[in-house]
Amino acid sequence: MFESMEQQIVHACGHEQVHVIYGFDSQVARKARWLRTTKCRACFVADKKAEQTKAAARDDATIAHLDRPQLNGSERQVSWAETIRVSRLAALMALPHTSADADCGICLGIDDAKWWIDHRDLSHAEFLAQATRHLQIAGMPASGQHSEAA
Ligand SMILES: [Zn+2]
Repeated sequence: MFESMEQQIVHACGHEQVHVIYGFDSQVARKARWLRTTKCRACFVADKKAEQTKAAARDDATIAHLDRPQLNGSERQVSWAETIRVSRLAALMALPHTSADADCGICLGIDDAKWWIDHRDLSHAEFLAQATRHLQIAGMPASGQHSEAA
């Protein structure tokens, strides 16, 4: 018989949580058994958060010696971009190559929060190529902007 059952599950962490389980009798029993071996939602989220905090602290320590310029953008963009920048820089520092400082130097030249967010998913090689290009364009004299304004 197909059913949806509300079950009070005691999770591996000791907390109880109500789950609605759908399926045939045997599937419901199996799912309930499996749920008892897992942690409750709150513990799962807490674990994940602790892991992220630990990783962030480790990354911060890895790049503590780098002088990071203030990012530009909205408050939300800046806070998101800062997280992206920290993990990117830490990853670059951890790579077994000798140009880590130069690579980080390129990254640190970019203070546009939106750019960091837009390019967050690129591989390191692609990311560095884009960053170099971005800096070259930014370094070019703006044409037309200051033309004979009188
Ligand atoms: Zn729990």
